[in-house]
Amino acid sequence: MTEKELIQKCESGEIGFVRLQITDINGMLKNVEVPARMLPTILEKGAMFDGSSIDGFVRIEESDMYLRPDLSTFAFLPWDNCQGKTIRLICDVYKPDGTPFEGDPRYVLKRVIQRAKSMGFETYAGPEPEFFIVKRDHDRGKPIGAFLDTGSYFDLLPVDGGEEVRKQIVLSLQEMGFEVEAAHHEVAPSQHEIDFRYTDILKTADNIQTFKWVVKTIAIADGFHATFMPKPFSGVNGSGMHIHMSLFSDGNNAFYDSSKDHGLSQTALSFVGGIISHAKEITAVTNPTINSYKRLTPGYEAPVNISWALGNRSAMIRIPSTRGEGTRLEFRSPDPTCNPYLALALTLAAGLDGVEKRIDPPNPVDENIFKMKGSRRKELMIENLPGTLINALEFTRNSEFVKSTLGDHIFNTFVRSKEGEWSEFCASVTDWEISKYLELY
Ligand code: GLU
Ligand code: MG
Ligand code: MG
Repeated sequence: MTEKELIQKCESGEIGFVRLQITDINGMLKNVEVPARMLPTILEKGAMFDGSSIDGFVRIEESDMYLRPDLSTFAFLPWDNCQGKTIRLICDVYKPDGTPFEGDPRYVLKRVIQRAKSMGFETYAGPEPEFFIVKRDHDRGKPIGAFLDTGSYFDLLPVDGGEEVRKQIVLSLQEMGFEVEAAHHEVAPSQHEIDFRYTDILKTADNIQTFKWVVKTIAIADGFHATFMPKPFSGVNGSGMHIHMSLFSDGNNAFYDSSKDHGLSQTALSFVGGIISHAKEITAVTNPTINSYKRLTPGYEAPVNISWALGNRSAMIRIPSTRGEGTRLEFRSPDPTCNPYLALALTLAAGLDGVEKRIDPPNPVDENIFKMKGSRRKELMIENLPGTLINALEFTRNSEFVKSTLGDHIFNTFVRSKEGEWSEFCASVTDWEISKYLELY
């Protein structure tokens, strides 16, 4: 969509409103809606907004910020049937002096993409977001924390209670330009997965934000609630967001080398080595909530250890069997509460660091790590991922790598905000404690 075409659509009345969108540090999508007639001025000068009211942006003394729409993110909102339709445009954030705002998560990812380019690589990524659909209490306007169905992996009606709403979500995503590849009931009751095609890494981060928005919007319209909370129910699988990633160089997949063991190039191995060597430091960003760590427990198809493998789904990084153009890694620890711009930026930066320093990964582990004895794990030198948010934050806080990748502004704000979340959690008495201790003591 060119600027001229867009303005024509606004003038002809085809477009009535524009939603300008950004993402805050905690990964929340934010937007402001403007009438279409405002768009020419916005394209020329940017749209001013109060940066101090967005979490983690700026202090009140320096609050004027500008939104500059990225026209390649143009999409109509499928659920909007007004005369003069509504579109959305994802924006970059600029300061009044016209320079990019270092607190904008999209800018962090753009910087790492630039670094990959300077090393001769184009980066592609694709996510596998999982989520639960639960009932909604319409009188209270709140979700109900109970299963909607008893379905499991690949189930159908009547045990798949989300079949209809999942189809509506897929149709809306397709209308917005997503290339949906698969949709199915996942392993846990009421859990679902919708996969869409990989593309360049910036577009994938934008797509993840759009995806979550569409899933929630359609679920609410159908009377349900969709949640990306990593572990809403104990005793069953949680929701992950595995990230598939590959590098291309001169149009060829740089992870593939038919002459090497398993068809994996030195670049692929070093990239894996880089992620493994930075895994602990980046976990607070890829798994940013207290609840994220309830998912990373043994036995639920989510990784607990820092390891890689060829087929084995108990490892943190898996190399799916496809070779040639589709050679990629699957990073399995991230969950859908992460800010996709920051999580993808750190994953890519960690991999590139490995490539630059030729970091060798440890040997791949092709045994089921969930069933492995502690002594065997020790023998193979397999370390654990951080077990709690505060444990993860300790690694992040001391990481020069994370600090230089995110920049001081986002790094400091992120660590401070997550430390606050941990303190709040520590000071609250949970239902588990009441059921365990109230009667007993
Ligand atoms: N739900 C699992 C997780 O928490 C993943 C299941 C799968 O392999 O798709 O990561
Ligand atoms: Mg899955
Ligand atoms: Mg997967």
